[in-house]
Amino acid sequence: MSSSVALRLPSIDGLLRHPACLPLAERYGREALLSGLRQLLDELRLSVLQGQLSAIEISPEVLAGRVGERLAQQQRSNVRRVFNLTGTVLHTNLGRALLPDEAIDAVQMAARYPLNLEFDLASGKRGDRDDLIEGLIRELTGAEAVTVVNNNAAAVLLTLNSLGARKEGIISRGELIEIGGAFRIPDIMARAGVRLHEVGTTNRTHTRDYEAAISPRSGLIMRVHASNYSIEGFTARVPTAELAELAHRHGLPLLEDLGSGSLLDLTRWGLPAEPTVRQALLDGADIVTFSGDKLLGGPQAGLIVGRKELIAKIKKNPLKRALRVDKLTLAALEAVLGLYRDPDRLAERLPSLRLLTRPQAEILAQACRLQPAMAEVLGEPWQVSAVQALGMIGSGSQPVARLPSAALCLRPQVSKRLRGRCLLNLEAALRNLPIPVLGRIDDDALWLDLRQLDDEPTWLAQLPQLQVES
Ligand SMILES: *Cc1c(COP(=O)(O)O)cnc(C)c1O
Repeated sequence: MSSSVALRLPSIDGLLRHPACLPLAERYGREALLSGLRQLLDELRLSVLQGQLSAIEISPEVLAGRVGERLAQQQRSNVRRVFNLTGTVLHTNLGRALLPDEAIDAVQMAARYPLNLEFDLASGKRGDRDDLIEGLIRELTGAEAVTVVNNNAAAVLLTLNSLGARKEGIISRGELIEIGGAFRIPDIMARAGVRLHEVGTTNRTHTRDYEAAISPRSGLIMRVHASNYSIEGFTARVPTAELAELAHRHGLPLLEDLGSGSLLDLTRWGLPAEPTVRQALLDGADIVTFSGDKLLGGPQAGLIVGRKELIAKIKKNPLKRALRVDKLTLAALEAVLGLYRDPDRLAERLPSLRLLTRPQAEILAQACRLQPAMAEVLGEPWQVSAVQALGMIGSGSQPVARLPSAALCLRPQVSKRLRGRCLLNLEAALRNLPIPVLGRIDDDALWLDLRQLDDEPTWLAQLPQLQVES
């Protein structure tokens, strides 16, 4: 038994009035402070009774400090900025495309003020939200009409349901893909009420395969851009124009899900070729669907473009109401589409394109510039080198194409047995920074691909806070 007088926890009232707690009440509110203090005191009560805590540990100053830390933690937003140094530019888990200033301004305006979302200012009558971007989309793709929904998955679902419910959808076995996150073409078809009629084989599908499948039960022919995998070798695929000709001969619509899709030919910026929406329509696709936040570089959205009477049918589907986009998305989308009217300046103004087209030499120079700071922070056990690396576009665009990039390569100088643990510790420490830094582990090293490191000063400023567990 301890001979000293038993310690007692301070009272809640006393703590609330204590100068150490006053700034916390000011900052987080009295309610939050009160419940934080109650919780902390409850947790400590038993330890105090058992004499396990010193007077200092239960002093108002120390208790206020602990509550303050908890309140700060609680107040921190769950939505947090990160540095995407994974090498994948359009990273689905990290929010895909970054919006240009023009779109951010438009979002602010739409968030702050009432707007003509479904109101025709010319006639004073009720309008349609799709009208806000229809003109631009028609100009940029050559489509007759357009409708916009929440994302491309929604676009595919809505299109299939509107045009093919209770009928058969004919699709090549090579295009029955899974995009990830439970988006599988056969499942979407089933949910859309379209009966799947698969034709051909995984690697080869011919026009005659499609033709043999056509019957009075057929509702549409679908083509899906194989976004996230590639088949090489002995393959055959029917060109869109030929498939469109076949579909139209039998009075069927041809849908083309382009996935990423692009409004412009990316090869003009030295990027791998990606099918353009305009070309798919020129080839005869009746409806083309694509994402707003992949190569387009805009907000999350699904664009459905194509023939006027089919779009009209899609817009009448009650599901359209369930899948529609909000005003912030439309505001951002219109601003992004506006930038496409001036392709010569697009790579300067659209962040995703600017990042995708950063020259490797420039990224390597950046890596060389940052190498000493990183080496100093990590110290002896790590070899830090500025090296060439290969990144990727991401989000299903060009799965096999690699973007020549550069990285800081962080290699632990320890025995092979300890390397894995070392790398995981460093990865965790980087994630623990105020703005988490995300890289990738590969070949016994942690790679920080610098293609997307725009904000070098902020990145450097937080580096000294890196604490790697050993
Ligand atoms: C990415 C993708 C989708 C899904 O698009 P989201 O905008 O992510 O919903 C559908 N189809 C293809 C071919 C894709 O690449």
